Amino acid sequence: METKYIVLPGGTLSEEDDRALRLAGETMKQGGLVAFPTETVYGLGGDALNPESSRKIYAAKGRPSDNPLIVHICCLEDIYRIVSDFPEAAGKAAQAFWPGPLTMILPKSDAVPKETTGGLDTVAVRFPSHPVAQRLIAYSGGYVAAPSANLSGRPSPTLAKYVAQDMDGRIDWIIDGGPVGIGLESTIVDMTVDPPQILRPGYVTAQDLAGVLGQVDMDITILRDDSGQAPKAPGMKYRHYAPKGELVIVEGEPSAVASYINEQTGKLSAAGFCTGVIAASEGADSYRADVIKCVGSREDAEQIAHNLFTALREFDDDGVDYMFSESFPHSGLGQAIMNRLLKAAGHKVVRVSDEQ
Ligand code: AMP
Ligand code: MG
Repeated sequence: METKYIVLPGGTLSEEDDRALRLAGETMKQGGLVAFPTETVYGLGGDALNPESSRKIYAAKGRPSDNPLIVHICCLEDIYRIVSDFPEAAGKAAQAFWPGPLTMILPKSDAVPKETTGGLDTVAVRFPSHPVAQRLIAYSGGYVAAPSANLSGRPSPTLAKYVAQDMDGRIDWIIDGGPVGIGLESTIVDMTVDPPQILRPGYVTAQDLAGVLGQVDMDITILRDDSGQAPKAPGMKYRHYAPKGELVIVEGEPSAVASYINEQTGKLSAAGFCTGVIAASEGADSYRADVIKCVGSREDAEQIAHNLFTALREFDDDGVDYMFSESFPHSGLGQAIMNRLLKAAGHKVVRVSDEQ
């Protein structure tokens, strides 16, 4: 299949751009697939109410079919067609965080095929804030199933060129809306339980949710790798976000982390491998490696979140074989950052101390 491209300038859309978006929306109505920008990462969209479209999404991504899709809407009233219950707490969360990077799990209505929900009786719903996403959803009939627009297991795309790397030739359209804002996927909260439970940390933090909903729990598997339980969001059990090379997280005092990493990169370079480091700006100067990615200050979690997936993709662009990353603070948005980084590293963490 030949993938068609639309490149949108920032700001107001011209009539021509709008016509192109209408065409892409029509393609989804007819069962086609369109990748598009959202405020979190690029999504790969198809008509959420058409089982054939969902099957195509799984095939294009190489995604296991038990890993359900998030349904994107473009106005709150549209939710009533796809859920069988919209509890008061969900209404409060919608008022506080929609449109925006929050996905709510709710009981599904009969309108949503099981192909979209990976066989579950619940549906994940999000109302994105990105104006291009909103317009495209409206033009495609109002319900777009859209996982991240990467091949299954790869880092989520923050730029259209990374969508093209994974999806060119596999889908109908790629809409290039420039770099995304947030850079990490939405927070997922299960509203079918009381208290609500976070299944995937994201830009909307546990504290943000608790401020609106009162008590909010966290799926134990997010906090601990050794809980022995299956994550409640089926997708969280899979290896994710992985760069092509091998990534290890190194924890400890900054000086011990730098000496450990420099020793490793030194040995690996001598053996002919290409090495990389992910560091915060505070310590970035202390590393020796072929590629050093400074993802932002430790004081600025938003910046780190924004740069993380892009850094992982850039390592691939540069052909890096072995990567080491500093560990980042775990609180607030740091919870989402460390969740993604640990998954990207397949939970390989080395703890070093000054005595080593
Ligand atoms: P992605 O599409 O890559 O952003 O991933 C979507 C995530 O939402 C995956 O981890 C899914 O397992 C999760 N998800 C989608 N629908 C549901 C649902 N009904 N119940 C629990 N988790 C869900
Ligand atoms: Mg994904």
